[in-house]
Amino acid sequence: MRVLSVASEAFPLVKTGGLADVVGALPGALAPHRVEISTMIPGYPSVLKALTKPEIVHRWTDLLGMKARLLAGKIDGHALLVLDQPELFARSGGPYTDAGGKDWDDNGIRFATFARAASDVASDYDIVHAHDWQAALVPAYLRYSEDKRAQKSIVTIHNMAFQGRFDRALFPRLGLPQHAWGVDGVEYYGGVGFLKAGLAAATAITTVSPTYAREIRLPEFGMGLEGLIAVRGGAVHGILNGIDRAIWSPDTDTALAAPYTKPARRTANKRAIESVFGLAHDDGPLFIVISRLSWQKGMDLLLAATDALVGMGGRLAVLGSGDTALEGAFQAAQVRHPGRVAIRTGYDEPLSHLLQGGGDAILIPSRFEPCGLTQLYGLAYGCVPIVARTGGLADTVIDANTAALAAGVATGLQFDLAAPGAMIDVVARAIDLYARTPTWRKIQQQGMKANFSWDASGARYAALYRQLLEQ
Ligand code: ADP
Repeated sequence: MRVLSVASEAFPLVKTGGLADVVGALPGALAPHRVEISTMIPGYPSVLKALTKPEIVHRWTDLLGMKARLLAGKIDGHALLVLDQPELFARSGGPYTDAGGKDWDDNGIRFATFARAASDVASDYDIVHAHDWQAALVPAYLRYSEDKRAQKSIVTIHNMAFQGRFDRALFPRLGLPQHAWGVDGVEYYGGVGFLKAGLAAATAITTVSPTYAREIRLPEFGMGLEGLIAVRGGAVHGILNGIDRAIWSPDTDTALAAPYTKPARRTANKRAIESVFGLAHDDGPLFIVISRLSWQKGMDLLLAATDALVGMGGRLAVLGSGDTALEGAFQAAQVRHPGRVAIRTGYDEPLSHLLQGGGDAILIPSRFEPCGLTQLYGLAYGCVPIVARTGGLADTVIDANTAALAAGVATGLQFDLAAPGAMIDVVARAIDLYARTPTWRKIQQQGMKANFSWDASGARYAALYRQLLEQ
C-alpha cells in the first residue's frame, strides 16, 4: 500500500514541535506493515539544503496562479517530496513566522497552495494522510474535485488549538468551487477554516491519544469544533504517538555526557546539566522542563510554584522558548534563586536529550495535551514524568499512588491541575518520593521498561489504512 503523508514539518529537516517527530517517524513505523509512506513537506531553506541531487517529478505552471515544482529525495531512506515554491517557502525565519516570531501574513495562501499541490499528486497513492491545519485542505480539495472525489483521506489532529482560521477574503483565492463555501464546507464562523474543512471532508480523522479523542468532543478541548467531531462519530480514532528509539535511547544517545542503561548511572549527566545551566551541584532533586513556553503548557502555573519548589530543596532547569512574558518571568526566577533555577531560551535538540538523561523529573503541567512526547522521552530516560491528568499525559503515565506503588507499576506522578495548590502538592510528593531512593529507582525502572515504541501504534495506523481501503 502507498500512502502520501502531507505535513508542514518532518524531523530531522524542519521541527518546531511534536508534529515533526511523528511525521518523521511514521515511514519507519509503517514499513514493517507493508505500508510505503512518501512524506510531502514545503521547500523551506533547511529542507532544500538537505536535498542532494533531487529529481523533479512534477511541474505546475498554474498552482493557484504560481509556478512550482515537486522535488523527490530521501528522508532517512524513505521517500520525500518537496514543494519547491521559493516565493512562499524559501524564507528566513520559521516555518510559520518571521525571524521576529510574527506569523507570516500570507500563511493562508502558503498552506492552501501546499495542500492544493498535494491533492494534485494524491491519485498516485492509495491514501492521503494530512497532518494538522497546514495540510487539512487536502481532503477538501479532493472532495470538491470531480475526478478525485473517491480518494481516501485521513486528517490527523496533533493539536486542536491550531485551526488555520483566515478571513473570508481568502476564499476566492483558494480555487475551490462556490458551493465549497458553506457550513459543511470550508466556511467557519464567517471565515475560512482549514482544519474545519479537513475534518468535514476526510474519510477518517485521527488524533494522537485515546483520551484526547474523547476530550475534543467537549467545548473546553474542541475549541469550536466539538460539534463537528461529534457528528463525525465513528470516523474519529485516537492512536497514541510512539517514540523513535533510534533517536531516543539512553544507551546509544550521543548527546549525553554519559550514555547508560541503569538509572543509577545518570549522575554524570546531571553534573553536566548543572554546569551548562550554572546550577549548584548537589544530590537533591533536579526538575526539568523542555517545552514551548505557552499557556497551553501551564508554564504560568509552574512559575507560581517555583519559589515553593526551591523552598523544598528542589532545583529547576528550563529549556524553552515562546511567550516572551513567560521567558522573562523564568529569567526573574533565575535572578531570585541563583544556582537553584535557570532557564535557557531557544531551541536546542542536543540539550533536550541531556536534560532527559540527567534530570530527575520532568514537569509537564499542560492545560491540555493531545499526546505529548516529552513525558515519553522522560519515561525512556528514567527522568520521572510529573504530568497533568489530561489527554495523552493521562494515557501514558501511571501515577505513583499507594496502590500502584504497592503493585510496583508506577511510572510517574499525575495531578489534577484544577485542584487548588495542585502544582505545589505534586512537587512536594515528588520530593518525598525522591528521598526514598529504592522507591524512586523502582519508578524510574518501570518507566524505562514501558514500551512506547511505534510497534503498537504503527500497527493501528496500518489497520486503519486497510479498513479505509475496504470501505
Ligand atoms: P508540542 O508539539 O505541543 O510542542 P510535544 O511534547 O508533543 O509538544 O513535542 C515537543 C517536542 O519538541 C519534543 O520533541 C521536545 O523535546 C521538543 N522541544 C520543545 N521545546 C524544545 C526546545 N526549546 N529545545 C529543544 N527541543 C524542544
